[in-house]
Amino acid sequence: MKIKSVKAFAIRSDLVGWGMTTPPRRPSWSANAEVAGPMSRYPRYKRLRAAWRPTWPSVGCVVTATDGTWGLGMSRYGSPVIDIINEHLGPLLVDEPALATERLSDMMMRLVSPYGPSGLATYAISAIDLALWDLKGKALKRPVYELIGGPARDAIPCYATGNDTDWHIELGFKGTKLACPHGAADGLDGLDRIEELLARTRALVGDHVELMLDCWMAFDPEAAVRLAERMRPYRLKWIEDCLPADDFDGQTELRRRLPWHTLATGEHWYGLAPFASAAARRNTDVFQPDIGWVGGLTACVKICHVAESAGIAVAPHAGMNTPYGQHLVFAMPQCTWGEYFLGTAPGVPLAETALTPGAATPKDGFLTPSDEPGFGLGLTLDGVEAMRV
Ligand SMILES: [Mg+2]
Repeated sequence: MKIKSVKAFAIRSDLVGWGMTTPPRRPSWSANAEVAGPMSRYPRYKRLRAAWRPTWPSVGCVVTATDGTWGLGMSRYGSPVIDIINEHLGPLLVDEPALATERLSDMMMRLVSPYGPSGLATYAISAIDLALWDLKGKALKRPVYELIGGPARDAIPCYATGNDTDWHIELGFKGTKLACPHGAADGLDGLDRIEELLARTRALVGDHVELMLDCWMAFDPEAAVRLAERMRPYRLKWIEDCLPADDFDGQTELRRRLPWHTLATGEHWYGLAPFASAAARRNTDVFQPDIGWVGGLTACVKICHVAESAGIAVAPHAGMNTPYGQHLVFAMPQCTWGEYFLGTAPGVPLAETALTPGAATPKDGFLTPSDEPGFGLGLTLDGVEAMRV
């Protein structure tokens, strides 16, 4: 069976909430919350991330084999990623063996190397790789998690990310992660306000719920050290994504200055190399690759094996929001916890808010993926067509 075609196209990036019928209790935290980030030092763009992030639609990619079997992958960042697939990678993969996911992943990483095997290129590679795995599962009539080792557990324990903490607890999550509203740009006043938020949140959740803080690249090593020291009374399980994405030496410096604190990062790392480097330096405790950004399932399985060899946990970024991440985490023993990003309004049942077709939703903090063939997306080609913009 060979690859017949690889086609990428724009899809809606606001699929979330399509099926919502229950009226919300109040607006979601994500509607208007300030989240600190790399642009927080520029007042013009500080208040809302939407003021400066690109408005490209999401990306769908259908790979079709010579026998007519097809698979769907999804990623982000619109026209640049679509062009990489349709104008470069896709045509060069036609007539290659459709089930040879290792070979095809290796080819793609080498094909993009002249213009950088990371960032937008790995978003494109992810979409193709996920489509190939969906195709392979459908061709072999098995769920993808069985093709990469079978279930590692009966159900995936999940934590919720977002700042509607009371809603997370009501839903039964035993872990909750706050988006940090202030960063290095906010100085000591920012630290005071973060401390107020954490004190309030720890009091709300009690001592038997894990609490984490996502810093979304808003700090530098010095500011992150001060943050960790101030927040120590609130017993954070980890601080996350503290530094600009490519400050790899900074991550080692942060580890040196904070030997006692658990450090999580990696959602903005692309390809295998940053994870291999971090494992060699033992500068990170929890890897957080995003399966739709880092290079797809093939890359994530390798990252899990690198992590296992170094005793590092893996909690894939927003892994519980797509069937892709759900199948990965279900099969990999090193993924002990799944992240469910919760940006929908309190009061609306999670089953009404699924972002991606075929995604299972957590119940009482646990989730089990679909056992339908492929990633169990449950789509016809007409259904894929309906997602296009
Ligand atoms: Mg994060």
